[in-house]
Amino acid sequence: MTNHHGKEFLGFLATGPAVGIPENIWKWLACPKMKTDELGRPIQAPYGMRKIEAALIDAGFKAAIIDPDHLNKHLPYAKALMFSHHDYFAFGPPSSTWWGITRKEPVNYKSFMELVNRPEIKKEKERGLKILAGGPSVWQWLWREDMIEKLGVDSLVDGEADKVVIKLAQMVLDNEPLPKYVYIGGDEAPSVDEIAEIKGASVNGLIEIMRGCARSCRFCSVTLRPTRYYPLEKIEKELLVNVRNGVKHGIIHSDDVLFYGAIGIHPR
Ligand code: SF4
Repeated sequence: MTNHHGKEFLGFLATGPAVGIPENIWKWLACPKMKTDELGRPIQAPYGMRKIEAALIDAGFKAAIIDPDHLNKHLPYAKALMFSHHDYFAFGPPSSTWWGITRKEPVNYKSFMELVNRPEIKKEKERGLKILAGGPSVWQWLWREDMIEKLGVDSLVDGEADKVVIKLAQMVLDNEPLPKYVYIGGDEAPSVDEIAEIKGASVNGLIEIMRGCARSCRFCSVTLRPTRYYPLEKIEKELLVNVRNGVKHGIIHSDDVLFYGAIGIHPR
């Protein structure tokens, strides 16, 4: 987990292998480790993970984002381990380009493989720990089904999981079998009121201001979900969470921020 020294675009280095310098220096440049509290909770975390954490906390679950370096403290007591990754198997354009040119595994892929192959995770899996994977690159698992079995993933969660994750967490607690694959389509997308507000700081103060996209390009999966604009008060609340947690700048995010508030393709 990292904030790339506060400079997002340095993150692209983390989609490649170390070139010309030792890997530890490359990783320090691209993705220095995030500071954490004594429990291993990072001072900043990816926004999407913050949303899932917030949804679970609001629903009464004891959930927290834990830096991978501190997982050992919590795994023996955990019922579920939920992963997110921006590019699990390095299929994304930057990672696959780096990999293709250099013939070396990108550091983001290597780091994930090292994490999921840790013996302590395997041990807890045998004890009954459930593993769920979601996030923006969850689709990649569908092209690496071999890894689902190999790494012991119980459930893949594809889409806006703000509501579904609560049902899945309850199923874990009730020892119910989890669905292998959950796809959250447009009909099940949460309304703005159903989207929890983050509880801790997001990486570099990034927050979303809308979901969906009014431009409605026919080829785009974003248009399969309804367009929802966050009211200004909701945006301000999340900015203030970041400020209170020491992140004094912000990045507003959506698939097309300039469409904020638009009706169809006509700006207001
Ligand atoms: S997110 Fe981009 S590609 Fe998708 S509908 Fe909006 S403008 Fe088009």
